[in-house]
Amino acid sequence: MGKLHLEIVTPEKVMVSQEVDIVVAPGTMGEFGILEGHVPFLSGIEPGELRFSSGNQTERFLVTTGFSEVSDNQVSILVDAAEKATEIDLERARKAVERAKERLSLDRGKEDVDFLRAEAALKRAIVRIRISEKIN
Ligand code: ATP
Repeated sequence: MGKLHLEIVTPEKVMVSQEVDIVVAPGTMGEFGILEGHVPFLSGIEPGELRFSSGNQTERFLVTTGFSEVSDNQVSILVDAAEKATEIDLERARKAVERAKERLSLDRGKEDVDFLRAEAALKRAIVRIRISEKIN
């Protein structure tokens, strides 16, 4: 199996920087997989599970919104937030769902930015819960 270099970067830090065999990421056009020798590729990233394997080790992360770039066996994932699946705080995500649902239950005004924010927050929280429950 070939080697790719994967970086997962958030505004806070470089979460991952290592050699991997395969990356599977949640693209805006659907999930995509990258192996060594992939053609140059750009995609948006949407909230979902990103997993990568090295040998027989597979790691799972939650990533939120951002971009990915593949070029010369380098995979760069630039996202607003990322957490190792094992480090997702399930209780926090459940509270985020409740908050978002409360906002979404209010009357929607026109061009209501809070409504759009609540929809995005709900999506992030649901994905966090799904990933966290899957590994526990
Ligand atoms: P919350 O309302 O609970 O802050 P959020 O979806 O608004 O959730 P983000 O803006 O996506 O949070 O992330 C802000 C920071 O908090 C990031 O560093 C992210 O990794 C972390 N974070 C958010 N929710 C969780 C969670 N449930 N478990 C672990 N880390 C989280």
